[in-house]
Amino acid sequence: MSSAPSSSRRAGSAKRAWRSLSARLALWYVLVIVGSFFVAAFVFALRLETSVQREGNRSAEGALERYRQALESGGTDALRAMFDCSPAPASRFALRLTDERDVELFGVSSDEDSRRVAVTSGERAPHAAPFPAWHVAKTQVSQQRTLSIAMHDDGADHLFRELRETSWLIFGAGLGLAILGATFITRRTLRPVTALAEATERIVRSGDLGLRVETRASTDELAHLSALFNRMLAKNESLVKAMRESLDNVAHDLRTPLTRLRAGAELALRGAPDTAHERDALAEVIEESDLVLGMLTTLTDIVEAEAGAMRLDKHREDLGAIAREAVDLYDLVSKEGGVGIVTHIAANAEIFADRRRITQVCANLIDNAVKYTPAGGRVEVCVLESGTSAIFRVTDTGIGIAPEDRAHVWDRLFRADRSRGARGLGLGLSLVKAVVEAHGGEVTLSSELGTGSTFEVRLPRAP
Ligand code: ADP
Repeated sequence: MSSAPSSSRRAGSAKRAWRSLSARLALWYVLVIVGSFFVAAFVFALRLETSVQREGNRSAEGALERYRQALESGGTDALRAMFDCSPAPASRFALRLTDERDVELFGVSSDEDSRRVAVTSGERAPHAAPFPAWHVAKTQVSQQRTLSIAMHDDGADHLFRELRETSWLIFGAGLGLAILGATFITRRTLRPVTALAEATERIVRSGDLGLRVETRASTDELAHLSALFNRMLAKNESLVKAMRESLDNVAHDLRTPLTRLRAGAELALRGAPDTAHERDALAEVIEESDLVLGMLTTLTDIVEAEAGAMRLDKHREDLGAIAREAVDLYDLVSKEGGVGIVTHIAANAEIFADRRRITQVCANLIDNAVKYTPAGGRVEVCVLESGTSAIFRVTDTGIGIAPEDRAHVWDRLFRADRSRGARGLGLGLSLVKAVVEAHGGEVTLSSELGTGSTFEVRLPRAP
């Protein structure tokens, strides 16, 4: 029952294997090797044939010259005498003396083939393809007579036959070796690619983002590809991890205000109607809703700014004026917290920016500085210009940021306070970075745990 589907499956996988890159590469290798063999054999045979032919023709011409001299000195009798005392110079041999009408006046031959060759010599000497062993020559002797000679080179014939047989043997063995070698080389070369494909399949199937491809201690392109693939996998893993953490944090941060919101509403509904009590509860509901809405708006703003889709209403602005405005916003809060704010604001630090967004940046940084600086501390706000940049710098004498947290403060919903007890969304610095970068600027941080932090925003100066 199962034989039909399994045989069709086998046929399918054979078809796939045949169409695979390794099969096609192996085929190309074999074709190139066989082609090279044929070209080399052809060139070799051609050169050998030419040199054997030249050598044979030379000895045919030498023999013909001797017969011509004998003919001229003693006529056909002298020729005949030559053959009487010594054998012909080749086993298959013909010598013909003909008049101008091709009537044979004298002839010596060992067989019919050599006669035929001698008859046609000169005009159309037949070639015994592919390695002609016949050598022909002809010369004009006195009174319109032609003396022609045809000699068969048995040695060359034998040599060419052996060469032909050996060539086929070499070709057969070479073809076998080429197929084996090409298959081995392509399999070996493509092993990293196969490993990549297998790893990808395993990841897709198991969903395990921690899987990696085996890498070799080599510097070739495929080893580089495997290393890059692993780096991409690691990056994907950390992105997915960050996304999961973000989602957890969002869920956590939304749960608290929503629970408070629900509890407030429930409390207001419980017991006898009391207008004052209900008003308080509704005010609290509005406050919590604003918190949730603010969080969602900030998240959307960050996503838009990071994607380059934030709408910026840019004008020529004085960064110093924006900074002063932001400092004024925190005047009361800082006094309440016992934190002093000092400012050093240079004139003419002009930028081309969205005033509302840059105010948000300055306010966020001052807010953090005041929030994370204990009573008695100091916050310094500076605006200065440096070359093509306008700089906004906030330095505080607050709690500082641990080295391991410094790289993460820009992440969405990150808070160094792991308990997430303190009020704060962990979105302020993400928004600062996204907005500053959307304006073509950069923001940097230097901090010392327990001593304080400095945040510096560099924006391009207005031209
Ligand atoms: P948050 O609303 O929690 O302040 P932010 O994105 O503004 O969110 O900041 C992220 C985290 O970076 C904060 O939770 C805090 O731990 C740390 N941080 C930011 N600014 C300062 C600062 N000036 N001093 C110390 N820690 C800071």
